[in-house]
Amino acid sequence: MKIGVFSLTCCEGCSVQFLNIESDILKLVEKFDIKNFRLIKERNEMPVDIAFVEGFPSNDEEVEKLSYIRENSKILVSMGACASNAGIPGMVNYAGKKAKGIKEYVDVDYFLYGCPFSIDELMELISCIFHGKEFRNKNQNVCSECYLRGVDCLLDKHILCMGGVARAGCNAVCPYNGHECSACRGGYEGIDIKSHARLLLSKGFSEEEIIDAYEMYMHEYVEELKKWLKER
Ligand code: SF4
Ligand code: SF4
Ligand code: SF4
Repeated sequence: MKIGVFSLTCCEGCSVQFLNIESDILKLVEKFDIKNFRLIKERNEMPVDIAFVEGFPSNDEEVEKLSYIRENSKILVSMGACASNAGIPGMVNYAGKKAKGIKEYVDVDYFLYGCPFSIDELMELISCIFHGKEFRNKNQNVCSECYLRGVDCLLDKHILCMGGVARAGCNAVCPYNGHECSACRGGYEGIDIKSHARLLLSKGFSEEEIIDAYEMYMHEYVEELKKWLKER
């Protein structure tokens, strides 16, 4: 199977994460022929069977590049928060600019969420594709994984953790290590931001703190959140 790793506007941290597969990359190379990966290859070729795309298109040239990748790949995987919804650079939208994830431009077959994405999830996706099995993103919150790991909730220590609305799949790595979840994997489907905001208010966080926490990765929900906070 021919694969390619492609970068649009971003920090390229997800490409570096791809290289962090370490011993697993050796197994990967045995099964896959890496045809296109700017960080490790001088000569790049198309088409590919699977295109892993990080970043978001920030100009016409990158929109064209993304279309070209789509036309020349059988499966396209959105890799990381920037590809998903423009991630942290997407905060320019609050200043009236336009930064959108790649699904707004082309069809995306699979999403690897996170900043950067999870290596375990990448390996699971590759295994599913290789064995013809269905790959599904988790659709619970990070709290569900956090409870299983026996973490004392950070909200009770007045640390604003976004695990209640963030999509699971990272095994609650941040809270487990004592850091708040910033929802880098975005929101899971059907999240209830009003209940979440009510919870955060009841824990003593201010409206501004809650909005700030949503603004980093949860762009899609900020307007609704602000409206609800204003009208409640
Ligand atoms: S998702 Fe995070 S690590 Fe990946 S390219 Fe964007 S900023 Fe970098
Ligand atoms: S620490 Fe965060 S992820 Fe863990 S239970 Fe509390 S809010 Fe949820
Ligand atoms: S705990 Fe939250 S911030 Fe950390 S990797 Fe998971 S979703 Fe991202």
